[in-house]
Order: sequence, then structure tokens, then C-alpha cells
Amino acid sequence: MTLCILGSTGSIGKQSLDVARLHGISVAALTAYHNVQLLEQQIRQFHPALAVVVDPAAAKTLQIRVADTNTKVLSGTQGLLEAVQLAQVDMVLNALVGMAGLLPTVTAIRAGKDIALANKETLVAGGDLVMELARQKGVRILPVDSEHSAVFQALQGNDRKDVNRIILTASGGPFFGKSKAELAGVTAAQALRHPNWNMGQKITIDCATMMNKGFEVIEAVHLFGLPEQQIDVVIHRESIVHSMVEYTDHSVMAQMGVADMRIPIQYALTWPRRQPSPAAALDLTNIAKLTFYPPDEQNFPCLSVCRQAIRKGGVTPAAVNAVNEEAVRLFLQDRIGFLEIAEWAQRAYDGFSGAYSDTDDLLRIDADARRMVREYYAGR
Ligand code: NAD
Ligand code: MG
Repeated sequence: MTLCILGSTGSIGKQSLDVARLHGISVAALTAYHNVQLLEQQIRQFHPALAVVVDPAAAKTLQIRVADTNTKVLSGTQGLLEAVQLAQVDMVLNALVGMAGLLPTVTAIRAGKDIALANKETLVAGGDLVMELARQKGVRILPVDSEHSAVFQALQGNDRKDVNRIILTASGGPFFGKSKAELAGVTAAQALRHPNWNMGQKITIDCATMMNKGFEVIEAVHLFGLPEQQIDVVIHRESIVHSMVEYTDHSVMAQMGVADMRIPIQYALTWPRRQPSPAAALDLTNIAKLTFYPPDEQNFPCLSVCRQAIRKGGVTPAAVNAVNEEAVRLFLQDRIGFLEIAEWAQRAYDGFSGAYSDTDDLLRIDADARRMVREYYAGR
């Protein structure tokens, strides 16, 4: 198998390369936004035919640094779209963050490439379009997100019509148990200290607001074809049970393991087979206790905004995703408070509705929703 890894310098991208190295999976294309130093190291280890640096100036730097190799360097979104279409690529692992992942995913599907999908924003914003296109093209979308990998694993060998509900687990993030008054004063530095997972900054903030879990409900709706009402969320602080499927006979299948993304990444790459993993084995007696709580939708409203957004459908989830990207960016710069992120999500829900028919529609809504946030804070 030959991979194209989009976002190879990120948290998921680097762990994907660990898995590829271990199993001798060849890599035809690697991409970064501007981390030329790390991308150069990756090129020297994996010898891809193509490397893409989105930032044009950084791409020029890389081109000079790897002039002695056989790797071609491209830049921009156009470069990403060429990478996913390379003839030798069988599967595209999309580990980009945010809406930037949409066009590469859609282009890869059109080119008939299977997708290992970490970039959940693609499904949140354009899930109907992406899944329909994948169906038409006979392309597989294999989940990398740990919860969806867990559900996918718990579905193996069973009939999907026997599913009662999906139960997604959530760690609850760094602010579990805090009141609104306490949340009003939390900082980006505090939000970046996730108890169980070491991830990119944007998803770490999404975990703190519970927006991530709302997005994962939407992601599950699209991946598994169930209505939002059949996708429950439970807080599970230990992050050992990665999610569950309840069947009509009330038997519940759970997938467990240590909190190491290399397990779900590898399953997406080796499915339907299993291979030895670099992740540690699970030692349950050492963990001793697994706990479960209902989510606190009063103090963490993003989860219910996402549920409402997927019920409304159309462009609404894309608008919620877009304002969230902007609000998280501002929160990371300490320019807005933590609670403002959820307020923007609610505003996007209220302000955007209607159907979409193609990626142009989605990108227009994305730009409009972002502009709403930017203009509000301009000059403040
Ligand atoms: P990250 O920030 O660590 O890495 C993002 C990668 O995308 C980097 O290689 C970066 O250079 C590139 N990138 C960023 N912005 C870009 C843009 N505008 N255009 C092109 N490339 C761009 O993020 P991550 O934590 O690896 O997350 C990647 C995706 O996987 C996200 O959608 C996230 O929600 C999802 N995910 C991550 C984890 C995790 O453990 N990190 C778990 C589940 C799902
Ligand atoms: Mg997840």
C-alpha cells in the first residue's frame, strides 16, 4: 500500500509516520503548512515522490534544502490537490486541521483514493456531500478519530440494522466539573493542558469546550448513518473505553486500549487485518477503576449546539465549524474569553440555514461565517 499523508508534521501526521515506518508502508507524498525543518527530516527518512508546503515562501526554502533528493516540492492548496491524486497513491490519510481539509478529501475521493480520515471538520461541514461522493465512487472512508475507530471496530462482524445506539465516550477535558463562573476566567494555557491526550492546539481547545464531542456526534451521524438521537455521549475520565455500540439485544460492544492514537491510525491502515502495535498493552488492574458520568450540557453548551446544528442540517454545521475555528484562534491569542467560543457557535446556529449543493457553497458559507467573527473583533 502507498500513502499520501496530509499534515505529516502535525500530531496525527507524525504518529502516522511511526506506524508507516513500523510496517514498511510506503509514502508517496507528505505535506506541511510551513514546518520546513521537520518536513525535511521526514523526506530524508521516507523518500516521498512529492512534498507540499502550503506557504509559498517556506516551500522555496524546502526546495533548496532537499535539492539533493528525488523529492519534488510544490506549494499551496493546488499542491495538496496534486498530492492526493498521484497515480501511485492508494490511500490518503487526511490529518489536516480544519476546513482546509475539505477540498483535498473531495479531490481524493473523486480520484478514487480510499481515505483514512482524522480531519473531522471535513465531515462536520460537508458530511452529506463527502459521504454521497464516496458512495458514488466506491471509496472507503476509514475513521482515524479514536471514538469512531472504536465504533467501527465494535461494528465488525455485526449487522448495522441491529444497532440500537452508539455511545461516544468523552474525557471531559481539563475543565470537567467547573461552573460557568469558573470557566469565564480560564486561559488558553490552562485549556492546553489536556489530562489524557497530547494533540494539536485546535482540537485540544475543542476538547475543553466539548465542541470536539459535538463535532464527533456529527461525524458519527455521517460515518455510521444513524440519526443524532441514537448517538449518546458519556463522560469517561480515564480514556480507556474509546466508545461503544449497543445492539437491539442490549449487548454493548466496547473497544478499549491505552490512549495512544497509533492504535486507531494503524487500524485504518491495516483494516480488516490487525498487526502488532507500537502502543503499550492495556493493564486494567493498574487502572483499577473506570468511571462514567452524564455530560454537563448547561456549562458546556457546544455539545447541544452541535446536536441542534445537525438536526437543522444544510449549511448550519459548516457555519458552526467556521466560527469555531475563528473563535478558537482568537482564544489561543488570549483575545477572547473561553465562554465566547460557545456564544459564537450559538450565533452561527441562529444565523445560518439553508441547503448547499457543492463545495463552492460550503466554502462561501465558511468565509461568511468567519468574516462575521473577524469583523466583530476588528479594531478591538
Ligand atoms: P496539528 O495542528 O498537530 O497538525 C495539523 C497539520 O496540518 C500540520 O501538519 C499542519 O502543518 C497542517 N496544517 C495546518 N493548517 C493547515 C492549512 N490551513 N492548510 C494545510 N495544512 C495545514 O493537528 P492534529 O492534532 O494532528 O489534528 C489533525 C486532525 O486530526 C484534526 O482535524 C483533529 O481534529 C483530528 N484529530 C486529532 C487527534 C489527535 O490526537 N491529535 C485525535 C483525533 C482527531
Ligand atoms: Mg476523538
